[in-house]
Amino acid sequence: MMQKRHVNIPIFIPHFGCPNTCVFCNQRMISGRESFDPRSVNDTVDAVLSTVDPAVSDVEIAYFGGSFTGIDRDLMRQLLRIADSYCKRGLVQGIRLSTRPDYIDRDVLDILASFPISAVELGIQSVSERVLIESERGHTLNDTERAISLLREYGMPCVGQMMIGLPSSTLEDELATARLLISSSVSAVRIYPTVVFRNTALEKMTERGEYTPLTLRDAVLRTSEVFSLFVRAGIPVIRIGLCANDALVDPDSYCAGPNHPALGELVIGAYYYQEIIRKIELPATETRGRTLILSVPPGYTSIVIGQRACYKNQLLQIYGLRKIAVHEDERIPPYTVGVQLVTF
Ligand code: SF4
Repeated sequence: MMQKRHVNIPIFIPHFGCPNTCVFCNQRMISGRESFDPRSVNDTVDAVLSTVDPAVSDVEIAYFGGSFTGIDRDLMRQLLRIADSYCKRGLVQGIRLSTRPDYIDRDVLDILASFPISAVELGIQSVSERVLIESERGHTLNDTERAISLLREYGMPCVGQMMIGLPSSTLEDELATARLLISSSVSAVRIYPTVVFRNTALEKMTERGEYTPLTLRDAVLRTSEVFSLFVRAGIPVIRIGLCANDALVDPDSYCAGPNHPALGELVIGAYYYQEIIRKIELPATETRGRTLILSVPPGYTSIVIGQRACYKNQLLQIYGLRKIAVHEDERIPPYTVGVQLVTF
């Protein structure tokens, strides 16, 4: 049977009910919206549904952007009921929402439990208390662990959102965050390298020299290490980097930090490069003059070769190879690679 296409209908609720000011956050910029009118939900959903074939698509209404479970309770119920009306008519299969760990408690979950919630996305960001404090997140690791355990108790799938390159964060902190998400058996993750937006505390910290944004290269390398942990654990990474909306290309909103329209592909390419090196296993003295044959999943050739063939050229050089041939093979699962060294 053909697998259905997944369609999220994102409804952005910028900063609604959020008293926090995380240093990196200008939610209105990120969501590209200045305000939110609940009456617009039906229009947005209807517009997307008119373009979707329900026979071949799995559709979710996704309340993203702010801390959904922190907004006014009546409004939250109103928004859930609107989404639920589409679920009841069979037009939509579930409701997805994003929130913070400290906005998950039994009262909230008792409300959510009477709606078809398909995923709760938790903005965990980091497990390091130091990073959480320096980023002014306003919650602790304990909040995160408690929220994950409550979601599990209520049988609600949890998607973990984490960030790379927050103030004072190290690769070790980021790997520790990934390990917590893996040991918590989250259903999927999103990884966001930190971008500096205008009119945020992080912009001021950058100006004062208290924060140095990651270069694109460092962000790609660090994210690829985290990504590889999730791949090995079999946890889907459903997003790498912010969506390429106007806020990221507009100099009035984007200030600094790793920002690339194909960031996800760069990360997956870096991951593949390390995988190929791991699988070759041999020193250059034993590979010199040989041909490397790579088998990759369909559509992955350009990612594996890298931008301007950077990974291909590096492999040719460090292993003294005569040639690299890349074959796409539908039997190769995503994020794996077949490596063969031949002499001819
Ligand atoms: S909790 Fe979310 S919406 Fe609120 S300031 Fe932090 S990142 Fe922004």
